[in-house]
Amino acid sequence: MSLLVIGTLAYDNIETAHDNRTDVLGGSATYCSIAASHFCEPRLVGVVGEDFRDEDITALKASGVNTAGVEVAAGKTFRWGGRYEADWNTRHTLFTHLNVLEHFDPKVPEDFRSSKFVFLANAAPGVQSRALDQVEHPSFVMADTMNLWIDIARDELVGLLKRIDAIVLNDEEARMLTGENNLIKAAGQVLGLGPRFVVLKKGEHGAFIMGSDMHFSLPAYPVKNVIDPTGAGDSFAGGFMGYLALVGAHDPVHLRQAMLHGTVTASFCVEDFGIEPLAQREKAELDSRYSDLLGIVTV
Ligand code: AMP
Repeated sequence: MSLLVIGTLAYDNIETAHDNRTDVLGGSATYCSIAASHFCEPRLVGVVGEDFRDEDITALKASGVNTAGVEVAAGKTFRWGGRYEADWNTRHTLFTHLNVLEHFDPKVPEDFRSSKFVFLANAAPGVQSRALDQVEHPSFVMADTMNLWIDIARDELVGLLKRIDAIVLNDEEARMLTGENNLIKAAGQVLGLGPRFVVLKKGEHGAFIMGSDMHFSLPAYPVKNVIDPTGAGDSFAGGFMGYLALVGAHDPVHLRQAMLHGTVTASFCVEDFGIEPLAQREKAELDSRYSDLLGIVTV
């Protein structure tokens, strides 16, 4: 079945303890759709500026992403800068230049509106809501968010939570949204705000999914050489949603399997800067890590 991905396309400046990069193709929807492209042909909706490089659109298309919903607006592409501490767990946002995102009014193309699976990647909750308004009868909608939006657009985010099936949060965001330090209690409180499922990411410690009658927890895939964690969360969501769209199901068994696929796609993303480490993988390489991970978590 079809997967619609709405979110940001960006140029990122990234500083790690070992290396720095500038103007790396990134953005929440970019990473998510590249990850999902290993399972289906994701339909991407977002905005870029006139400075967006042709080769980057070409790279997305070459990975099998449908870019018909990427609008080119007057001005510059969204830019984000981040710096990681040596332990990778702490990330400091150095700058967020909204540029063309400031006036972005998402337009979901006519032939994308019947998409059954929808991922509202990290973007302003108002933008996520206006995009969702245009989708006709989705069967499973998941959204992502971040501390910035919890801080400056909490009411819109709480409104969105009532309209979606699942929300994906990292530990810091879950604590910030609920004021609760215990992550199990925090996830329970988020369920009380509307969604049927909460996916809670804990960086190198893995992730769990919780619903009213399910709880499934996974470690991260043991990656030896982390080079840049940017986009790991979005790549997780892309693998998760891409797999659900492929099987056309969202029952508890497929949600558990989707957690494994998301963990695998995220593990490739962190092995270098940008989309290449994930875009260049063969399906067999993903399948091999899926089997490894199954071996790691099975008694
Ligand atoms: P992740 O590491 O999964 O949290 O995703 C990092 C990506 O999110 C980067 O490529 C950024 O361009 C993008 N990003 C950073 N800040 C924002 C924001 N406020 N809204 C949407 N996307 C963002």
